[in-house]
Amino acid sequence: MSVLIVGSTALDSIKTPQAGHPRLLGGSASHAAVAASFFAPVRLIGVVGDDFPRRYLQLFRRHGIDLEGLQRREGRTFHWSGEYEANMNRRRTLATELGVFETFTPTLPAAQRDTPFVLLANIAPSLQHHVLDQMRRPKFVAADTMDLWLNIALKDLLGLLRRVDLFILNDSEAQQLTKEDNVIAALPRLHRLGPKYVIIKKGEHGSILSSPAGLFLAPAYPLRRVVDPTGAGDSFAGGLMGHLASAPGRVDAHLRQAMVYGSVVASFCCEGFGLNRTTKIQRADIERRVKELEKLTRV
Ligand code: AMP
Repeated sequence: MSVLIVGSTALDSIKTPQAGHPRLLGGSASHAAVAASFFAPVRLIGVVGDDFPRRYLQLFRRHGIDLEGLQRREGRTFHWSGEYEANMNRRRTLATELGVFETFTPTLPAAQRDTPFVLLANIAPSLQHHVLDQMRRPKFVAADTMDLWLNIALKDLLGLLRRVDLFILNDSEAQQLTKEDNVIAALPRLHRLGPKYVIIKKGEHGSILSSPAGLFLAPAYPLRRVVDPTGAGDSFAGGLMGHLASAPGRVDAHLRQAMVYGSVVASFCCEGFGLNRTTKIQRADIERRVKELEKLTRV
């Protein structure tokens, strides 16, 4: 089955203590779409400006990503720039230039409104609502977010949480949203906001799923060297949703394994700037790391 992904399609300028790269292909939807494309057909919803390099469109096409819902507008592509400290878990946003995103209203191609799996990747919650409004009875809807929306669009975000099956957020966002420091104690509070499934990401320490079946702890793939973690969360969500869409039957039966696949795709993302590493791997590379992770966590 297919996955429809909406989110930011961006040019990212990223600095780490080791290096800096301007105007790389980035954005939550770009990372998620490439990650999901290893498992299932992907439909990308977003907007880019006339400065968006043609080679990035070709890269999406090489991954078989359907670009019918990617608008091309006069003006500048969303540009985000960020800088990492020596501890790569700490990042500072240097600039967020909305460009064509400022007036973006996603309109889904008619044929895409029946897509069974929907990933509302990080973007303004009002746009996430707008996409969901156009969908016809999707089978499974997941949403991601960021601290910015907790600060400036909380009401919209809370409304959205009543409409999604799975909410994916990181530990600091969970803490901010629930005012609860302990992530395990935060989980029931997050369920009370609406979603049946909640995943809290803890960076290099993996992620926790809370569902009616209980808790599951997914490991992160242990990396000796992180080059650039930008987009790791989006790759996790994309890999997870792609894997779910490719698995037959009930979603519950595959969530745990989907998290492991998400972790593995995220690990590749961290090994290169932007999408440089993720776009060079094959499905077999993913399977190899999944097997390794299974071995590493067997008790
Ligand atoms: P992550 O590392 O998972 O937090 O995701 C980083 C990606 O989020 C980058 O590729 C950015 O282009 C994108 N991004 C940063 N700020 C925003 C924003 N305000 N809205 C949507 N996407 C954003």
